Amino acid sequence: MFRKRERIEIKTPAQLAVMRQAGLVVARTLALVASEVRAGITTAELDEVAAESIRSEGALPSFLGYHGFPAHICVSVNDEVVHGIPGARVLSEGDLVSIDCGAIVDGWHGDAALSVPVGSVAPELLELSRVTEQSLVVGIAAAVAGGHIGDIGYAVEQYVRSQGPYGIVEDYVGHGIGTAMHMSPSVPNYGRRGEGPQIREGMALAIEPMVTLGAADTKVLADDWTVVTADGRPAAHWEHSVAITADGPVVLTAL
Ligand code: MG
Ligand code: MG
Repeated sequence: MFRKRERIEIKTPAQLAVMRQAGLVVARTLALVASEVRAGITTAELDEVAAESIRSEGALPSFLGYHGFPAHICVSVNDEVVHGIPGARVLSEGDLVSIDCGAIVDGWHGDAALSVPVGSVAPELLELSRVTEQSLVVGIAAAVAGGHIGDIGYAVEQYVRSQGPYGIVEDYVGHGIGTAMHMSPSVPNYGRRGEGPQIREGMALAIEPMVTLGAADTKVLADDWTVVTADGRPAAHWEHSVAITADGPVVLTAL
């Protein structure tokens, strides 16, 4: 799980300031895309909104071309957990849609995701999204210098478990971020306090709980990207990129 020999990139305050600019591009793009989510829109149309937003900010999309990914955002609907490819799919009233976005400014990455209801959705879906978002908040609060990466997963897991019989996806995890989107260390959404690499000032971590209404098991569709729950139950996904500073965690991808 934890790749001990890989060094973890440490950023200067000036570098974190550039990451904040990338994070703001992501935050503004996600807010714009989320405001366009409605029944009748296609996921490809949401991708166009994201593309124009990132371009107009003078930034570059992290996702486009990443291992061949063909779009600017991931749009994952209902039982899709992450990595959904925008396309002809039309959103319907009652869907829960995860939107994941990454942007690059001067070589530095930002990465964040949120889940958005389409119109009126089932209360259990709203609660799933709330629990997932709040588990992210709790995980961020545990990302403090001197602690360990396992403290974050522990906090996320304990919170989710306290809320009900949810599934916590283990097949995909958060990650270090900086001069690349995905860097060491892995940041699981489960774990034990004191486990894993020590958290140090100058690190940047993308924390991203993926929580389901059923089991935690996932599978990948024939498009080789879209991750769905194995049992077909809905999932939610929330993510922020966070800088570790002497004053505590600073969310780089919040407005
Ligand atoms: Mg992401
Ligand atoms: Mg990420």
